[in-house]
Amino acid sequence: MIASLSLQQLQQRFGGELVNGSVCFDAVCTDTRKLDAGALFVALRGENFDAHDFLPAVDGKVLGVVTEQRLENSTMPQWIVADTSIALGQIGRLCREQFNGPVIGITGSCGKTTVKEMMAAIFAQRHRVCVTRGNLNNHFGVPMTLFSLSPEHEVLIVEMGASGPNEIGYLCGIARPGITAVNNVMPAHVEGFGSVDGIATAKGQIYTTLDPGGVAVLNADDNYADYWRGEMPEGVRALEVGFGHQCAIHPDNIQMDALGCAAFDLVVEGVSHPVKLQVLGEHNVHNALVAAGCAHAAGIPVAEIASGLSAASGVGGRMQSLSGRNGATVIDDSYNANPGSVSAAIELLAQRNGKKVLVLGDMAELGPEADSAHRDMGRLARERGIDQLFTLGTLSGAASVEFAAGRQHGQRNFSEREPLIEALASELDESTTVLVKGSRSARMELVVQALTNGN
Ligand code: ATP
Ligand code: UDP
Ligand code: MG
Repeated sequence: MIASLSLQQLQQRFGGELVNGSVCFDAVCTDTRKLDAGALFVALRGENFDAHDFLPAVDGKVLGVVTEQRLENSTMPQWIVADTSIALGQIGRLCREQFNGPVIGITGSCGKTTVKEMMAAIFAQRHRVCVTRGNLNNHFGVPMTLFSLSPEHEVLIVEMGASGPNEIGYLCGIARPGITAVNNVMPAHVEGFGSVDGIATAKGQIYTTLDPGGVAVLNADDNYADYWRGEMPEGVRALEVGFGHQCAIHPDNIQMDALGCAAFDLVVEGVSHPVKLQVLGEHNVHNALVAAGCAHAAGIPVAEIASGLSAASGVGGRMQSLSGRNGATVIDDSYNANPGSVSAAIELLAQRNGKKVLVLGDMAELGPEADSAHRDMGRLARERGIDQLFTLGTLSGAASVEFAAGRQHGQRNFSEREPLIEALASELDESTTVLVKGSRSARMELVVQALTNGN
Protein backbone atom coordinates (compact mmCIF):
# COMPACT_ATOMS: atom_id res chain seq x y z
CA MET A 1 0.00 0.00 0.00
CA ILE A 2 1.08 3.59 -0.59
CA ALA A 3 0.07 4.86 2.87
CA SER A 4 -1.66 3.23 5.79
CA LEU A 5 -5.45 3.15 6.14
CA SER A 6 -7.58 2.77 9.25
CA LEU A 7 -10.67 0.72 9.99
CA GLN A 8 -12.32 3.94 11.11
CA GLN A 9 -11.74 5.48 7.67
CA LEU A 10 -13.36 2.45 6.06
CA GLN A 11 -16.31 2.41 8.43
CA GLN A 12 -16.96 6.14 7.98
CA ARG A 13 -16.85 5.87 4.18
CA PHE A 14 -18.64 2.57 3.63
CA GLY A 15 -20.67 1.84 6.77
CA GLY A 16 -20.65 -1.38 8.77
CA GLU A 17 -19.79 -1.65 12.43
CA LEU A 18 -16.54 -1.25 14.33
CA VAL A 19 -15.83 -3.50 17.31
CA ASN A 20 -12.87 -3.01 19.70
CA GLY A 21 -11.92 0.35 18.17
CA SER A 22 -9.93 1.15 15.07
CA VAL A 23 -6.45 0.22 13.90
CA CYS A 24 -4.11 1.42 11.15
CA PHE A 25 -2.78 -1.13 8.65
CA ASP A 26 -0.71 -1.04 5.51
CA ALA A 27 -1.16 -4.60 4.27
CA VAL A 28 -4.06 -7.00 3.77
CA CYS A 29 -4.08 -10.78 3.98
CA THR A 30 -6.83 -13.29 3.24
CA ASP A 31 -5.25 -16.66 3.91
CA THR A 32 -4.63 -18.09 7.39
CA ARG A 33 -1.91 -20.26 5.85
CA LYS A 34 0.07 -17.11 5.00
CA LEU A 35 -0.62 -14.72 7.86
CA ASP A 36 1.20 -11.41 8.13
CA ALA A 37 1.40 -9.98 11.67
CA GLY A 38 1.33 -6.41 10.33
CA ALA A 39 -1.76 -6.89 8.18
CA LEU A 40 -5.55 -6.67 8.27
CA PHE A 41 -7.21 -10.06 7.74
CA VAL A 42 -10.27 -10.15 5.47
CA ALA A 43 -12.37 -13.32 5.87
CA LEU A 44 -13.57 -14.41 2.41
CA ARG A 45 -15.81 -17.23 1.25
CA GLY A 46 -14.44 -19.26 -1.65
CA GLU A 47 -15.36 -22.40 -3.51
CA ASN A 48 -13.61 -24.65 -1.04
CA PHE A 49 -13.50 -22.78 2.27
CA ASP A 50 -15.14 -20.10 4.33
CA ALA A 51 -12.34 -18.19 6.04
CA HIS A 52 -14.78 -17.24 8.86
CA ASP A 53 -14.28 -20.83 10.06
CA PHE A 54 -10.62 -20.04 10.71
CA LEU A 55 -11.09 -16.73 12.53
CA PRO A 56 -10.35 -18.05 16.05
CA ALA A 57 -6.93 -19.16 14.74
CA VAL A 58 -6.28 -15.62 13.49
CA ASP A 59 -7.03 -13.97 16.85
CA GLY A 60 -4.01 -12.00 18.05
CA LYS A 61 -1.92 -12.86 14.99
CA VAL A 62 -2.93 -9.89 12.81
CA LEU A 63 -3.74 -6.23 13.48
CA GLY A 64 -7.48 -6.58 12.91
CA VAL A 65 -10.14 -8.43 10.95
CA VAL A 66 -12.93 -7.76 8.48
CA THR A 67 -15.75 -10.24 8.95
CA GLU A 68 -19.45 -10.81 8.51
CA GLN A 69 -19.88 -12.08 12.09
CA ARG A 70 -18.48 -10.65 15.26
CA LEU A 71 -15.64 -12.69 16.70
CA GLU A 72 -16.60 -13.17 20.37
CA ASN A 73 -14.10 -13.15 23.25
CA SER A 74 -11.53 -11.28 21.21
CA THR A 75 -9.95 -7.89 21.82
CA MET A 76 -8.92 -7.50 18.18
CA PRO A 77 -10.34 -4.53 16.24
CA GLN A 78 -13.04 -5.79 13.86
CA TRP A 79 -14.89 -4.18 10.99
CA ILE A 80 -18.18 -6.07 10.65
CA VAL A 81 -19.71 -5.80 7.19
CA ALA A 82 -22.55 -7.41 5.22
CA ASP A 83 -20.25 -8.84 2.52
CA THR A 84 -16.50 -9.21 2.99
CA SER A 85 -15.82 -9.58 -0.74
CA ILE A 86 -17.33 -6.12 -1.28
CA ALA A 87 -15.30 -4.81 1.66
CA LEU A 88 -12.18 -6.16 -0.03
CA GLY A 89 -13.03 -4.04 -3.08
CA GLN A 90 -13.67 -0.99 -0.87
CA ILE A 91 -10.23 -1.31 0.72
CA GLY A 92 -8.80 -1.66 -2.81
CA ARG A 93 -10.62 1.49 -3.85
CA LEU A 94 -9.04 3.52 -1.04
CA CYS A 95 -5.60 2.17 -2.02
CA ARG A 96 -6.31 3.26 -5.59
CA GLU A 97 -7.28 6.74 -4.38
CA GLN A 98 -3.81 7.14 -2.86
CA PHE A 99 -2.25 6.75 -6.32
CA ASN A 100 -1.77 9.67 -8.71
CA GLY A 101 -0.12 8.08 -11.74
CA PRO A 102 -1.82 6.81 -14.89
CA VAL A 103 -4.10 3.79 -14.39
CA ILE A 104 -4.70 1.51 -17.36
CA GLY A 105 -7.49 -1.06 -17.45
CA ILE A 106 -7.61 -3.88 -19.99
CA THR A 107 -10.45 -6.32 -20.64
CA GLY A 108 -11.59 -8.45 -23.58
CA SER A 109 -12.36 -12.06 -24.43
CA CYS A 110 -8.78 -13.11 -25.06
CA GLY A 111 -5.31 -11.66 -24.96
CA LYS A 112 -5.75 -9.58 -21.77
CA THR A 113 -2.77 -11.10 -19.98
CA THR A 114 -0.67 -10.93 -23.14
CA VAL A 115 -1.48 -7.23 -23.68
CA LYS A 116 -0.90 -6.50 -19.99
CA GLU A 117 2.57 -8.08 -20.19
CA MET A 118 3.36 -6.15 -23.38
CA MET A 119 2.37 -2.90 -21.64
CA ALA A 120 4.47 -3.82 -18.60
CA ALA A 121 7.46 -4.42 -20.92
CA ILE A 122 6.95 -0.97 -22.51
CA PHE A 123 6.59 0.96 -19.25
CA ALA A 124 9.24 -0.98 -17.31
CA GLN A 125 11.97 0.46 -19.51
CA ARG A 126 11.77 3.77 -17.67
CA HIS A 127 9.09 3.51 -14.99
CA ARG A 128 8.21 1.54 -11.89
CA VAL A 129 5.16 -0.46 -12.85
CA CYS A 130 2.51 -2.04 -10.64
CA VAL A 131 0.76 -4.69 -12.71
CA THR A 132 -1.73 -7.52 -12.12
CA ARG A 133 0.21 -10.59 -11.05
CA GLY A 134 -0.50 -13.66 -13.20
CA ASN A 135 -4.17 -13.77 -14.00
CA LEU A 136 -5.60 -12.19 -10.81
CA ASN A 137 -8.29 -10.34 -12.75
CA ASN A 138 -11.57 -10.78 -10.83
CA HIS A 139 -13.31 -9.23 -7.79
CA PHE A 140 -10.62 -10.72 -5.55
CA GLY A 141 -7.66 -10.24 -7.90
CA VAL A 142 -8.25 -6.59 -8.77
CA PRO A 143 -8.28 -5.44 -5.11
CA MET A 144 -5.18 -7.59 -4.51
CA THR A 145 -3.45 -5.74 -7.33
CA LEU A 146 -4.38 -2.42 -5.72
CA PHE A 147 -3.00 -3.57 -2.33
CA SER A 148 0.31 -4.19 -4.08
CA LEU A 149 0.65 -0.49 -5.01
CA SER A 150 3.58 1.08 -3.19
CA PRO A 151 5.00 4.63 -3.05
CA GLU A 152 7.64 4.05 -5.76
CA HIS A 153 5.09 2.97 -8.40
CA GLU A 154 4.52 5.35 -11.30
CA VAL A 155 2.07 3.40 -13.48
CA LEU A 156 -0.71 0.94 -12.65
CA ILE A 157 -1.87 -1.71 -15.15
CA VAL A 158 -4.95 -3.72 -14.21
CA GLU A 159 -6.26 -6.78 -16.03
CA MET A 160 -10.02 -7.12 -15.63
CA GLY A 161 -11.92 -10.30 -16.40
CA ALA A 162 -15.65 -10.91 -16.34
CA SER A 163 -17.90 -13.90 -16.49
CA GLY A 164 -21.18 -12.00 -16.20
CA PRO A 165 -22.84 -8.60 -16.75
CA ASN A 166 -21.83 -5.62 -14.54
CA GLU A 167 -18.59 -7.23 -13.35
CA ILE A 168 -16.40 -4.89 -15.40
CA GLY A 169 -18.41 -1.88 -14.16
CA TYR A 170 -17.86 -3.10 -10.61
CA LEU A 171 -14.10 -3.56 -11.11
CA CYS A 172 -13.81 -0.13 -12.77
CA GLY A 173 -15.54 1.39 -9.74
CA ILE A 174 -12.69 0.02 -7.65
CA ALA A 175 -9.66 0.59 -9.91
CA ARG A 176 -10.95 3.76 -11.65
CA PRO A 177 -8.78 3.45 -14.77
CA GLY A 178 -8.30 6.59 -16.88
CA ILE A 179 -7.06 4.73 -19.98
CA THR A 180 -8.99 1.61 -20.99
CA ALA A 181 -9.23 -0.96 -23.75
CA VAL A 182 -11.43 -3.87 -24.76
CA ASN A 183 -8.97 -6.10 -26.59
CA ASN A 184 -11.72 -7.94 -28.49
CA VAL A 185 -15.11 -9.61 -28.15
CA MET A 186 -15.41 -13.28 -28.95
CA PRO A 187 -17.73 -16.01 -27.83
CA ALA A 188 -15.89 -16.83 -24.58
CA HIS A 189 -17.82 -17.45 -21.32
CA VAL A 190 -21.03 -16.83 -23.34
CA GLU A 191 -23.00 -18.79 -20.74
CA GLY A 192 -22.66 -16.03 -18.16
CA PHE A 193 -23.67 -13.20 -20.52
CA GLY A 194 -26.56 -14.68 -22.47
CA SER A 195 -25.22 -13.68 -25.90
CA VAL A 196 -22.22 -12.20 -27.69
CA ASP A 197 -24.04 -8.82 -27.71
CA GLY A 198 -24.26 -9.22 -23.94
CA ILE A 199 -20.48 -9.68 -23.81
CA ALA A 200 -19.92 -6.49 -25.84
CA THR A 201 -22.17 -4.50 -23.50
CA ALA A 202 -20.56 -5.94 -20.39
CA LYS A 203 -16.98 -5.35 -21.57
CA GLY A 204 -17.98 -1.91 -22.87
CA GLN A 205 -18.47 -0.81 -19.26
CA ILE A 206 -14.72 -0.26 -19.24
CA TYR A 207 -15.47 2.67 -21.61
CA THR A 208 -18.84 3.82 -20.28
CA THR A 209 -17.48 4.23 -16.75
CA LEU A 210 -14.58 6.48 -17.87
CA ASP A 211 -14.53 9.97 -16.41
CA PRO A 212 -14.22 13.03 -18.71
CA GLY A 213 -10.61 13.34 -19.83
CA GLY A 214 -10.28 9.55 -20.03
CA VAL A 215 -8.94 7.79 -23.10
CA ALA A 216 -10.76 4.84 -24.69
CA VAL A 217 -8.38 2.71 -26.76
CA LEU A 218 -10.75 1.25 -29.34
CA ASN A 219 -10.15 -1.85 -31.47
CA ALA A 220 -11.46 -0.53 -34.80
CA ASP A 221 -11.39 -4.04 -36.30
CA ASP A 222 -13.85 -5.45 -33.78
CA ASN A 223 -17.44 -6.11 -34.88
CA TYR A 224 -18.59 -3.96 -31.96
CA ALA A 225 -16.39 -0.92 -32.69
CA ASP A 226 -19.35 1.11 -34.00
CA TYR A 227 -21.47 0.13 -31.04
CA TRP A 228 -18.79 1.33 -28.60
CA ARG A 229 -18.21 4.57 -30.54
CA GLY A 230 -21.88 5.30 -29.87
CA GLU A 231 -21.52 4.56 -26.15
CA MET A 232 -18.59 6.89 -25.33
CA PRO A 233 -19.33 9.26 -22.45
CA GLU A 234 -18.96 13.01 -22.98
CA GLY A 235 -15.38 14.22 -22.71
CA VAL A 236 -13.79 10.82 -23.36
CA ARG A 237 -11.27 10.65 -26.23
CA ALA A 238 -11.40 7.54 -28.43
CA LEU A 239 -8.00 6.44 -29.73
CA GLU A 240 -8.47 3.99 -32.58
CA VAL A 241 -6.11 1.08 -33.14
CA GLY A 242 -6.36 -1.48 -35.93
CA PHE A 243 -4.89 -2.87 -39.11
CA GLY A 244 -6.39 -0.15 -41.36
CA HIS A 245 -4.30 2.91 -42.23
CA GLN A 246 -7.12 5.22 -41.13
CA CYS A 247 -6.48 4.18 -37.51
CA ALA A 248 -4.39 6.54 -35.38
CA ILE A 249 -2.28 3.52 -34.46
CA HIS A 250 -1.68 0.85 -37.11
CA PRO A 251 1.00 -1.48 -38.43
CA ASP A 252 2.71 -1.18 -41.80
CA ASN A 253 4.81 -3.69 -43.79
CA ILE A 254 3.98 -6.74 -41.66
CA GLN A 255 6.41 -9.62 -42.28
CA MET A 256 6.15 -13.00 -40.58
CA ASP A 257 9.41 -14.88 -40.01
CA ALA A 258 9.74 -18.67 -40.36
CA LEU A 259 8.89 -19.19 -36.69
CA GLY A 260 5.70 -17.13 -36.93
CA CYS A 261 6.92 -13.95 -35.20
CA ALA A 262 5.87 -10.66 -36.82
CA ALA A 263 8.06 -7.71 -37.74
CA PHE A 264 6.28 -4.50 -38.70
CA ASP A 265 6.45 -0.73 -38.62
CA LEU A 266 4.40 0.65 -35.76
CA VAL A 267 2.73 3.88 -36.87
CA VAL A 268 1.48 6.14 -34.09
CA GLU A 269 -0.23 9.31 -35.29
CA GLY A 270 2.08 9.47 -38.31
CA VAL A 271 5.33 8.58 -36.52
CA SER A 272 6.75 5.18 -37.45
CA HIS A 273 9.21 2.84 -35.68
CA PRO A 274 10.16 -0.78 -36.44
CA VAL A 275 9.00 -3.54 -34.08
CA LYS A 276 10.12 -7.19 -34.02
CA LEU A 277 7.86 -9.26 -31.79
CA GLN A 278 9.21 -12.21 -29.79
CA VAL A 279 5.75 -13.74 -29.48
CA LEU A 280 4.16 -15.96 -32.12
CA GLY A 281 1.21 -15.25 -34.36
CA GLU A 282 -0.37 -12.40 -36.28
CA HIS A 283 -2.95 -11.92 -33.53
CA ASN A 284 -0.06 -10.63 -31.42
CA VAL A 285 0.31 -7.72 -33.85
CA HIS A 286 -3.21 -6.76 -32.79
CA ASN A 287 -2.31 -7.23 -29.11
CA ALA A 288 0.75 -5.05 -29.66
CA LEU A 289 -1.40 -2.29 -31.20
CA VAL A 290 -3.68 -2.23 -28.16
CA ALA A 291 -0.69 -2.14 -25.81
CA ALA A 292 0.81 0.65 -27.94
CA GLY A 293 -2.45 2.61 -27.80
CA CYS A 294 -2.54 2.52 -24.01
CA ALA A 295 1.14 3.45 -23.72
CA HIS A 296 0.72 6.31 -26.19
CA ALA A 297 -2.27 7.60 -24.22
CA ALA A 298 0.01 7.64 -21.15
CA GLY A 299 2.58 9.74 -23.00
CA ILE A 300 5.24 7.15 -23.90
CA PRO A 301 7.21 8.13 -27.05
CA VAL A 302 6.80 5.87 -30.09
CA ALA A 303 10.45 4.74 -30.15
CA GLU A 304 10.11 3.59 -26.56
CA ILE A 305 6.84 1.78 -27.28
CA ALA A 306 8.51 0.00 -30.20
CA SER A 307 11.54 -1.08 -28.18
CA GLY A 308 9.35 -2.31 -25.31
CA LEU A 309 7.17 -4.37 -27.64
CA SER A 310 10.25 -5.85 -29.27
CA ALA A 311 11.55 -6.91 -25.86
CA ALA A 312 8.28 -8.42 -24.57
CA SER A 313 8.58 -12.16 -24.10
CA GLY A 314 5.65 -14.55 -24.13
CA VAL A 315 3.52 -15.71 -21.23
CA GLY A 316 3.66 -19.44 -20.39
CA GLY A 317 1.14 -21.63 -22.23
CA ARG A 318 0.29 -18.92 -24.78
CA MET A 319 1.74 -19.77 -28.19
CA GLN A 320 5.18 -20.73 -26.96
CA SER A 321 7.43 -22.53 -29.40
CA LEU A 322 9.18 -25.49 -27.70
CA SER A 323 11.44 -28.23 -28.96
CA GLY A 324 9.62 -31.53 -28.87
CA ARG A 325 10.70 -35.15 -28.99
CA ASN A 326 12.40 -36.41 -32.17
CA GLY A 327 13.19 -32.86 -33.28
CA ALA A 328 9.54 -31.83 -33.70
CA THR A 329 8.35 -28.30 -32.90
CA VAL A 330 5.65 -28.14 -30.24
CA ILE A 331 3.67 -24.92 -29.94
CA ASP A 332 2.24 -24.72 -26.45
CA ASP A 333 -1.04 -22.82 -26.51
CA SER A 334 -2.54 -24.99 -23.81
CA TYR A 335 -3.45 -22.20 -21.39
CA ASN A 336 -7.02 -21.80 -22.64
CA ALA A 337 -9.25 -21.96 -25.71
CA ASN A 338 -12.29 -20.34 -27.23
CA PRO A 339 -13.26 -20.07 -30.91
CA GLY A 340 -11.35 -16.80 -31.34
CA SER A 341 -8.10 -18.06 -29.95
CA VAL A 342 -8.42 -21.43 -31.72
CA SER A 343 -8.87 -19.58 -35.04
CA ALA A 344 -5.75 -17.55 -34.28
CA ALA A 345 -3.88 -20.77 -33.51
CA ILE A 346 -5.03 -22.41 -36.75
CA GLU A 347 -3.84 -19.35 -38.72
CA LEU A 348 -0.42 -19.59 -37.10
CA LEU A 349 -0.12 -23.33 -37.69
CA ALA A 350 -1.29 -22.95 -41.30
CA GLN A 351 1.72 -20.76 -42.01
CA ARG A 352 4.27 -23.37 -40.93
CA ASN A 353 6.22 -25.47 -43.41
CA GLY A 354 6.16 -29.28 -43.12
CA LYS A 355 3.52 -31.43 -41.48
CA LYS A 356 1.01 -29.49 -39.38
CA VAL A 357 -0.76 -31.26 -36.53
CA LEU A 358 -3.44 -29.58 -34.41
CA VAL A 359 -4.24 -31.12 -31.03
CA LEU A 360 -7.48 -29.79 -29.63
CA GLY A 361 -9.08 -30.42 -26.25
CA ASP A 362 -12.66 -29.36 -25.59
CA MET A 363 -13.55 -25.66 -25.50
CA ALA A 364 -15.65 -25.12 -22.35
CA GLU A 365 -18.36 -22.62 -21.36
CA LEU A 366 -19.82 -22.13 -24.83
CA GLY A 367 -23.43 -22.95 -23.90
CA PRO A 368 -25.76 -23.96 -26.73
CA GLU A 369 -23.16 -22.86 -29.31
CA ALA A 370 -20.72 -25.56 -28.19
CA ASP A 371 -21.42 -28.12 -30.91
CA SER A 372 -21.44 -25.68 -33.84
CA ALA A 373 -18.34 -23.84 -32.48
CA HIS A 374 -16.39 -27.11 -32.40
CA ARG A 375 -17.62 -27.98 -35.91
CA ASP A 376 -16.50 -24.55 -37.16
CA MET A 377 -13.01 -25.15 -35.80
CA GLY A 378 -12.80 -28.55 -37.52
CA ARG A 379 -13.88 -27.00 -40.82
CA LEU A 380 -11.45 -24.08 -40.49
CA ALA A 381 -8.57 -26.48 -39.77
CA ARG A 382 -9.42 -28.45 -42.93
CA GLU A 383 -9.83 -25.33 -45.07
CA ARG A 384 -6.53 -23.88 -43.84
CA GLY A 385 -4.64 -27.03 -44.83
CA ILE A 386 -3.89 -28.52 -41.41
CA ASP A 387 -2.67 -32.07 -42.08
CA GLN A 388 -3.90 -33.84 -38.97
CA LEU A 389 -6.36 -33.08 -36.19
CA PHE A 390 -6.13 -35.00 -32.93
CA THR A 391 -8.96 -34.22 -30.52
CA LEU A 392 -9.52 -35.06 -26.87
CA GLY A 393 -13.04 -35.11 -25.40
CA THR A 394 -16.65 -35.41 -26.45
CA LEU A 395 -17.23 -31.84 -27.68
CA SER A 396 -14.14 -31.71 -29.85
CA GLY A 397 -15.25 -34.99 -31.42
CA ALA A 398 -17.55 -32.74 -33.51
CA ALA A 399 -14.49 -30.86 -34.76
CA SER A 400 -12.97 -34.16 -35.75
CA VAL A 401 -16.04 -35.21 -37.77
CA GLU A 402 -16.18 -31.85 -39.57
CA PHE A 403 -12.44 -31.90 -40.28
CA ALA A 404 -12.79 -35.27 -42.00
CA ALA A 405 -15.82 -34.13 -44.04
CA GLY A 406 -16.93 -37.68 -44.61
CA ARG A 407 -13.47 -39.02 -45.49
CA GLN A 408 -10.70 -40.53 -43.40
CA HIS A 409 -8.53 -37.43 -43.39
CA GLY A 410 -5.90 -37.47 -40.65
CA GLN A 411 -8.35 -37.04 -37.81
CA ARG A 412 -8.54 -39.00 -34.57
CA ASN A 413 -10.72 -38.42 -31.56
CA PHE A 414 -9.77 -39.72 -28.10
CA SER A 415 -11.64 -39.86 -24.82
CA GLU A 416 -8.49 -40.41 -22.74
CA ARG A 417 -5.26 -38.43 -22.66
CA GLU A 418 -2.78 -41.35 -22.56
CA PRO A 419 -3.74 -43.02 -25.85
CA LEU A 420 -3.79 -39.57 -27.49
CA ILE A 421 -0.23 -38.92 -26.33
CA GLU A 422 0.88 -42.35 -27.52
CA ALA A 423 -0.63 -41.84 -30.97
CA LEU A 424 0.88 -38.36 -31.24
CA ALA A 425 4.34 -39.51 -30.19
CA SER A 426 4.62 -41.70 -33.28
CA GLU A 427 3.92 -38.65 -35.49
CA LEU A 428 6.82 -36.57 -34.20
CA ASP A 429 9.77 -35.85 -36.48
CA GLU A 430 11.88 -32.87 -37.52
CA SER A 431 9.46 -31.71 -40.19
CA THR A 432 6.42 -31.73 -37.90
CA THR A 433 4.84 -28.89 -35.95
CA VAL A 434 2.29 -29.84 -33.29
CA LEU A 435 0.10 -27.10 -31.84
CA VAL A 436 -1.61 -28.03 -28.58
CA LYS A 437 -4.69 -26.18 -27.40
CA GLY A 438 -7.80 -26.59 -25.23
CA SER A 439 -9.75 -24.98 -22.39
CA ARG A 440 -8.25 -24.90 -18.91
CA SER A 441 -10.42 -27.84 -17.90
CA ALA A 442 -8.96 -30.00 -20.70
CA ARG A 443 -5.49 -29.80 -19.04
CA MET A 444 -3.71 -29.93 -22.39
CA GLU A 445 -0.46 -28.80 -20.75
CA LEU A 446 -0.05 -32.46 -19.75
CA VAL A 447 0.05 -33.31 -23.46
CA VAL A 448 2.68 -30.60 -24.02
CA GLN A 449 4.76 -31.98 -21.16
CA ALA A 450 4.62 -35.49 -22.61
CA LEU A 451 5.59 -34.32 -26.12
CA THR A 452 8.50 -32.18 -24.91
CA ASN A 453 9.69 -34.60 -22.26
CA GLY A 454 13.48 -34.83 -22.13
CA ASN A 455 14.07 -31.68 -24.23
P1 ATP B 1 -8.12 -15.10 -19.35
O1 ATP B 1 -9.55 -14.73 -19.68
O2 ATP B 1 -7.97 -16.54 -19.05
O3 ATP B 1 -7.49 -14.20 -18.36
P2 ATP B 1 -6.62 -13.60 -21.32
O4 ATP B 1 -7.66 -12.73 -21.94
O5 ATP B 1 -5.76 -12.99 -20.27
O6 ATP B 1 -7.29 -14.93 -20.76
P3 ATP B 1 -4.22 -14.59 -22.61
O7 ATP B 1 -3.92 -15.39 -21.41
O8 ATP B 1 -3.32 -13.49 -22.99
O9 ATP B 1 -5.73 -14.08 -22.56
O10 ATP B 1 -4.34 -15.58 -23.86
C1 ATP B 1 -5.29 -16.66 -23.83
C2 ATP B 1 -5.32 -17.38 -25.17
O11 ATP B 1 -5.77 -16.51 -26.20
C3 ATP B 1 -3.98 -17.89 -25.63
O12 ATP B 1 -4.19 -19.12 -26.25
C4 ATP B 1 -3.51 -16.86 -26.63
O13 ATP B 1 -2.64 -17.40 -27.60
C5 ATP B 1 -4.82 -16.44 -27.29
N1 ATP B 1 -4.83 -15.04 -27.74
C6 ATP B 1 -4.15 -14.01 -27.21
N2 ATP B 1 -4.44 -12.87 -27.86
C7 ATP B 1 -5.35 -13.18 -28.82
C8 ATP B 1 -6.03 -12.41 -29.83
N3 ATP B 1 -5.84 -11.10 -29.96
N4 ATP B 1 -6.88 -13.06 -30.65
C9 ATP B 1 -7.07 -14.39 -30.53
N5 ATP B 1 -6.46 -15.17 -29.62
C10 ATP B 1 -5.60 -14.57 -28.77
N1 UDP C 1 -8.55 -19.89 3.64
C1 UDP C 1 -7.85 -19.67 4.79
N2 UDP C 1 -7.27 -20.74 5.43
C2 UDP C 1 -7.36 -22.01 4.96
C3 UDP C 1 -8.08 -22.23 3.77
C4 UDP C 1 -8.66 -21.13 3.12
O1 UDP C 1 -7.74 -18.53 5.25
O2 UDP C 1 -6.82 -22.93 5.58
C5 UDP C 1 -9.12 -18.72 2.96
C6 UDP C 1 -8.59 -18.52 1.56
O3 UDP C 1 -7.36 -17.79 1.57
C7 UDP C 1 -9.69 -17.72 0.91
C8 UDP C 1 -10.95 -18.22 1.63
O4 UDP C 1 -10.50 -18.94 2.78
O5 UDP C 1 -9.53 -16.34 1.18
C9 UDP C 1 -11.76 -19.10 0.75
O6 UDP C 1 -10.94 -20.16 0.33
P1 UDP C 1 -11.14 -20.88 -1.07
O7 UDP C 1 -12.41 -21.63 -1.05
O8 UDP C 1 -10.91 -19.91 -2.16
O9 UDP C 1 -9.98 -21.95 -1.02
P2 UDP C 1 -8.49 -21.92 -1.55
O10 UDP C 1 -8.62 -22.05 -3.02
O11 UDP C 1 -7.84 -20.64 -1.12
O12 UDP C 1 -7.86 -23.12 -0.90
MG1 MG D 1 -5.67 -13.40 -18.28
